[in-house]
Amino acid sequence: MSESFYALEARYVLDCLPPREKIVVTRARGMKIKDVNGREYTDLFSGISTNNLGHCHPEVVEAIANQAREFMHVSAYYYHELEATLAQRLSSIAPGGLSKTFFCNSGTEAVDGSVKIAKLLASSRGKSGATVIALKGSFHGRLSLTLSLTGQRKFKANLGNYANYPGVVHTASPYYYRCGEGVSEEEFGKRCADEIRDVIENYAAGDVAAVVLEPILGEGGIIVPPDTFLPRVAAICREEGVPLVVDEVQTGFGRTGRVFACQHWSVEPDVMALAKALGGGLPLGAIMVSESVSKAIQPGDHFNTFFANPVCCAASLAAITVLQRENLPERASRIGSEVLKRLGESQEKIASIGDVRGKGLMIGIELVKDRSTKKPAPELAQEVKKEMLRRGYIVGVGGIFKNVVRLQPPLIISEDEAEKATSELISSMGQATH
Ligand code: PLP
Repeated sequence: MSESFYALEARYVLDCLPPREKIVVTRARGMKIKDVNGREYTDLFSGISTNNLGHCHPEVVEAIANQAREFMHVSAYYYHELEATLAQRLSSIAPGGLSKTFFCNSGTEAVDGSVKIAKLLASSRGKSGATVIALKGSFHGRLSLTLSLTGQRKFKANLGNYANYPGVVHTASPYYYRCGEGVSEEEFGKRCADEIRDVIENYAAGDVAAVVLEPILGEGGIIVPPDTFLPRVAAICREEGVPLVVDEVQTGFGRTGRVFACQHWSVEPDVMALAKALGGGLPLGAIMVSESVSKAIQPGDHFNTFFANPVCCAASLAAITVLQRENLPERASRIGSEVLKRLGESQEKIASIGDVRGKGLMIGIELVKDRSTKKPAPELAQEVKKEMLRRGYIVGVGGIFKNVVRLQPPLIISEDEAEKATSELISSMGQATH
């Protein structure tokens, strides 16, 4: 690509994004992304855990084109048939009694709106709802409320009160690898959950409007909680009368081996925030609520211009149809287990692998300078990412300490592709370590 392109970027595009790869994409199909120089990459990151069906699935593309030919936007002052159809479809796959849906445009909006609904619910019950509990190490977005919920300091520099929404309290991260020293995993999960009860009963300012959490912490470094954690949090929320808001923005739509990650633990949230893979590649978010929560919402309480954009709804319906028909959650579970097993075995040979964890095709490899001190190795994670890119593979890097290599490929990845990609990753980690 000519340098004049980057000069144009530098001159006209606001430079606020984290460092980007110098890849100018011209086409993407299935597992592959092609750049302007004709170089092809295998995508193992799915546009940040979003392209669960791969790029440009033909049925999604066709649904988008068909709808775009009819109408693209009329605003939420009118109805169209796809919004109720999609809401019905979502409630047919969602956990428990999540029966009503509001549509928005992103994960940030979905989480922010979920808290707004929780506050309305508290108010309808005569409670202050002054406090919202979130987890240390979490990620929920980058605007005021969601950034305040986000339990990672590194996103909040130079923002004063903007990232300090009143009443947000963070409790223990269920991060066994780093915080569970000397305790069994089972006991650690219980203790993390009990901290939530402690805040509700003893420390919160007024009543608690909601507990907000990711069932598996994505940006925090693919942190899978102990099995005891989520069911106990759900029980505490039920006993204390506090709604549980589950942020499935990153974990939803088959990524972890179930349609929604909270289903691994048979947890039925009161509110669920969705985005990313929901739109089949287009920007679409959603808030799903139970019947009883929906009673707290009055006409006029919430709105947005692009509510249930018809083209996004068409894409979403097509994407869910393919996800179910191809049984992609089961596929993610099967292929993910194999990848996890092989990565786990590679720990024996590569000393910098501190931990390998994940569920389905949401996998993280935490790299450390020294296994006994667990000192994070963020530079090594960057090196592995670079080496993989050199070999033609796109992987992600994340984690509270930026030292977790993230493997979140499209769920359509074949066994062969997964095996080859895993070998390349193991070899890249071995190379970067020496
Ligand atoms: N919640 C979670 C769990 C996420 O992973 C993200 C984004 O990565 C968000 C919320 C924010 O979503 P968006 O970037 O669509 O606003």
